[in-house]
Amino acid sequence: MGLRPNLLTRRTAGVASTTLALLLSTAAVGVVPAASAFSAAPTEACAEPADVHSDARVKAGAHAKHEPNELTAKETREREADLAAALRERANFRVGAGAAALATVTIPVIVHVIQEDSTRAGGNIPDSMINSQISVLNQSYSGATGGAATAFSFQLQKINRVTNPAWYPIVQGSSAERSMKSSLREGGKNTLNVYLGELSDDLLGWATFPKRRLDNMDGVVVLGESLPGGTATNYNQGDTGTHEVGHWLNLYHTFQGGCSGSGDGVSDTPAEASPAYQCPTGRDTCTAAGLDPITNFMDYTYDTCMYQFTAGQAARMLTAWDAYRAP
Ligand SMILES: [Zn+2]
Repeated sequence: MGLRPNLLTRRTAGVASTTLALLLSTAAVGVVPAASAFSAAPTEACAEPADVHSDARVKAGAHAKHEPNELTAKETREREADLAAALRERANFRVGAGAAALATVTIPVIVHVIQEDSTRAGGNIPDSMINSQISVLNQSYSGATGGAATAFSFQLQKINRVTNPAWYPIVQGSSAERSMKSSLREGGKNTLNVYLGELSDDLLGWATFPKRRLDNMDGVVVLGESLPGGTATNYNQGDTGTHEVGHWLNLYHTFQGGCSGSGDGVSDTPAEASPAYQCPTGRDTCTAAGLDPITNFMDYTYDTCMYQFTAGQAARMLTAWDAYRAP
């Protein structure tokens, strides 16, 4: 009973904020707290990601400067071939086990809070916001916000607070990121490690896709102030977390591949030529049937605008779980 109003609230908020969003959009780049501290860094540095098995979410306006992790057609072909191979491997290993072997999955979550110092501006995100983020994940992945229900739920195991100015902000693709994750990552393939902090390059977050062989880069990095109640205007309802975990569970962006080919590999997300920002009305960038899936968690719209996964995405995540992450 409580679900529908939630959906309506979020949809209405998305529409209502569009005008304001348009007015604010040119200022959005400058809104990022502490980004100025990093603006002296070379802007081309992350044009080619060090780790192609990751993907990011960017703020509106930031994309003109940085598109660090969108996959090429070749990379998605390689990933799809790897998924098929991983499924064959699993089928041989676990006789009779298919993609539907696990109907419900509870994912243990370790949250690492990377801080420069003990202040909020220095990354000290309170436990209450982290608990709210876990609730947002559980709502998003259960379908409670209006989308398809997925198999996944999330259980917070631990909050690990780390004060280390050398890791702050977290710089995508840097040796410091590698060092941070190598030092901190915990658990097996099924354990979700979340790193919170200030991020480089106006990014909201990035994530690794699943791999057959676990390495310690595995996990998601999320702007701390994007958690529910944070200061990242228009991106502070926790949907960056939802989006990045979607990548961690093998989802592509809804605009992957543009209007041609297999797109994001999911049949019930209409093709989309490019990322959507803010909360556009009636956007339709491909001639194929259907408006652009701007309300999908795997687009780039405002948190107020995105509220759903599709059944096809839910199935893709479960297949990938069985192939890559199931214990
Ligand atoms: Zn993304």
